[in-house]
Amino acid sequence: MTIDDSIPFLDLVTPHRELESSLLQVLRSASRTAAFIGGPMLTDFEESFAWFCDTRFCVGVSSGTDALRFALIAAGVGTGDVVVTVPNTFIATTEAISQAGALPEFVDIDERTYNMDPNKLKEYLETRCFHDEKSGKLISRRSGRPVVGIVPVHLYGQMADMDPILSLAENYGLVVIEDACQAHGAEYFSRKRNRWFKAGSMGRAAAFSFYPGKNLGACGEAGAITTNCEDIAVQARQLRDHGQSKKYYHDREGYNGRLDAIQAGFLKVKLTYLSEWNAARHLAARHYVDLFESSHLTLTAAPTLPYESEWVHAIYHLFVVRVPNRVALIEELAAARIGSAIHYPIPLHLQKAYANLAYAHGDFPVSERVAREVVSLPMYPTLTPKQQARVVDAAVSCLQRQPGSASQHLSCNTVHAQ
Ligand SMILES: *Cc1c(COP(=O)(O)O)cnc(C)c1O
Repeated sequence: MTIDDSIPFLDLVTPHRELESSLLQVLRSASRTAAFIGGPMLTDFEESFAWFCDTRFCVGVSSGTDALRFALIAAGVGTGDVVVTVPNTFIATTEAISQAGALPEFVDIDERTYNMDPNKLKEYLETRCFHDEKSGKLISRRSGRPVVGIVPVHLYGQMADMDPILSLAENYGLVVIEDACQAHGAEYFSRKRNRWFKAGSMGRAAAFSFYPGKNLGACGEAGAITTNCEDIAVQARQLRDHGQSKKYYHDREGYNGRLDAIQAGFLKVKLTYLSEWNAARHLAARHYVDLFESSHLTLTAAPTLPYESEWVHAIYHLFVVRVPNRVALIEELAAARIGSAIHYPIPLHLQKAYANLAYAHGDFPVSERVAREVVSLPMYPTLTPKQQARVVDAAVSCLQRQPGSASQHLSCNTVHAQ
């Protein structure tokens, strides 16, 4: 008998096996009432998720991409506008901006958090834009179009530094829509307001994805918008349902972007476990850090570990390390039957899809460097310490053999207790 000792990058099988009877119960009660669209299963989940995120409203939609697109449209972003975001994210962030009719423009990320650098945002607003006296609008020098919004992304389950981003937005009259698609339950301590905030509760609205691999994942496609603003919630409900204010009364053109009742039912079951799962991920992250720190790698050979500042409770959607030679590391892991991935290999401004935006190599050096060096290690609630020890052993034996190629980056690795 052979024992499968491979360590997958992601384990979606175990949680579904464990929850099988509750999930089947959802299917059974939906099929008995044939309530597949709307209904109590949907509103029940929406209320629960709003409560989880500390927001007044949650609007379930068909994906994270739709959530972002509807949130932008509901917030007033439209044709010809500019929305600022980062190059280090999944393309859905900018697809939603474009599909809302706007043009994405980028600012670089912070080298430690891998998320939007508020100083780069400030520099963009101060030097790459001007105030047009006639229209009273903030105009991008690059495109000549009005800048109306910012989409900070809470990538990897970390948080963008929201205090300065929100202050800049307020000063410049910009709307902030959080891309919280990787941050279900992450928290940010606002030094300004002296309290913790849940991801998705700080901007005008936020988008969540429940793609199966996310920390809270459906058994298919799903997403949600969270907001404290009733007008955004009302508009988002219309947008997801052909612009209807009531059946066959269309106040505008909308989309077919609803959340299936069955998926909402599945999500409600899983939401009960989310805090527990996030805590398990956090524990696993700390364990990775302990293992790497006690591995006796020299400072130059050591990977750059995730940075978790004291103002973040990260939920480790991904555990991302940086090494100068990631090809060797990925091959070594694969040889030891350990999965890994790259999030993301090409920053958005250099993607073929955005050749029309005419950005160049060197425009966002931090994003470009990060994109060359990041590797995501296995990370999920069912990952065991024993598996993690094997991951780190394989990684360390590879890194030890690397000539101390100048990893000039600080190896900052402060993972705090929740
Ligand atoms: C997953 C993801 C999305 C899109 O969500 P979908 O549900 O796949 O449409 C958007 N932004 C980020 C950062 C994501 O990780």
